[in-house]
Amino acid sequence: MRLTSTRDESISASFEEAILSGLAPDGGLYKIDSPPDLSAIISRFRPETSFVSVASELTAALLGDELGAGGAREVCEAAYRFAPALARLDGEIDLLELFHGPSCAFKDFGASFLASAMERFLARSGRRTIILTATSGDTGSAVAQAFHRRDAIEVVILYPSGRVSPLQEQQLTTVGDNVHALEVDGAFDDCQRMAKEAFLDPELRRRLPLTSANSINIGRLLPQAFYYVYAGVAAGGPVTFCVPSGNFGNLTAGVMARRWGMECAGFIAATNINDVVPKYLESAVFAPRSSLRTYSNAMDVGNPSNFERLLAIFSGDHDRMARTISGAVVGDEETMEEIRFTWETTRRFICPHTAVGVRAARRFLERKRGSAAGGGEHPERRRPEQEKRRSEAGGSGRSDARRVVCLATAHPAKFGEVIEEAVGERPELPGRLAEAMKRSKSATRIDARTAALREFLLDRWG
Ligand SMILES: *Cc1c(COP(=O)(O)O)cnc(C)c1O
Repeated sequence: MRLTSTRDESISASFEEAILSGLAPDGGLYKIDSPPDLSAIISRFRPETSFVSVASELTAALLGDELGAGGAREVCEAAYRFAPALARLDGEIDLLELFHGPSCAFKDFGASFLASAMERFLARSGRRTIILTATSGDTGSAVAQAFHRRDAIEVVILYPSGRVSPLQEQQLTTVGDNVHALEVDGAFDDCQRMAKEAFLDPELRRRLPLTSANSINIGRLLPQAFYYVYAGVAAGGPVTFCVPSGNFGNLTAGVMARRWGMECAGFIAATNINDVVPKYLESAVFAPRSSLRTYSNAMDVGNPSNFERLLAIFSGDHDRMARTISGAVVGDEETMEEIRFTWETTRRFICPHTAVGVRAARRFLERKRGSAAGGGEHPERRRPEQEKRRSEAGGSGRSDARRVVCLATAHPAKFGEVIEEAVGERPELPGRLAEAMKRSKSATRIDARTAALREFLLDRWG
């Protein structure tokens, strides 16, 4: 598999080179140069095929030249001691639960695979690496868990002080050993900028073997495509995927799976009020801006890092993208209403990110039904017409599939405060999260300047 930069197709790399460098040397993101046709493999999967088998076969098909078929299976078996689960929410909405891994969020799927593949490549070449990762909460905890005690790997995690949930902070600051947490006085966008600038700093690059485990790293994105294929097969027919989005890695992975031959009716890009991509889908103007704080904090992103890759996959063609993806914007008030509504009607807790997706999915289905008969119980119908139109941002559903699979991106217990505010009760913490709450925090505080990050890195490993 050949990977090329989104900015210059003459810059290419193997998967091994790409995951160990993060960004392409021109600052672009790696993407698959010409997507393979995996439809024959996908058509052999059955609803009962296990996730790890789906992952292994796709990995062998994509990376067999670099890992070997046996190596592909070993990487997947070491990475996936957990699996996604498809669960009926109600009527036409299924939840694809992606929170059964070590950090209880979907990022475990990408981080575990990346850690497993990276450790294998490093052992083979005798090299070392330093992973630099900015997090708005969930990336850090997934990366910390996935890379803890991996040979030849140091991990540095930048997170915005006071802007991740207490539990997320515990998860990423209590791992220790080769995992170093940096508490940055700034917003997530500052953390992301600092990491990006460090990667582009020629002296740092020369002196340190830096890479990233953010979703700019293709090694995290690629395996996320596997659960779309898995869910598409398990759902038994083409569905619309609804993806709660921030940096748009998750959605990009879905689009990649579709390009490999997964049948699918389309995608809904669901965001909170940080809506630059839904705005783009509507207007063809991409206007990044500072992020705003919401209840779905892992999606508080004002300049989504994967947008460049998503656009490149559609060859820069807005209309093609807008035919495949419809946008939906869900504000905090509606997010709270959805957590409450889902709880009242199904006795299920959903995290605020998942709630953004579920609300977007309901709106999408309702529009399909013509949303004629007003006055029902569903809270959506109580919204003023204008608000509804404003927040629908660009989405005329283009598929006929009646089913929506909404990605459930985090375990609700990770956002107990928000859920309690919405419904007056808290979900119980799974054992591994309760465990993290008991450990003591260890983080280094730095200000939001790339120079401060440079100093930290060079002091330790320069
Ligand atoms: C990271 C994250 C998202 C957003 O995913 P992207 O790939 O950045 O679009 C959504 N929900 C949760 C819980 C997350 O951790």
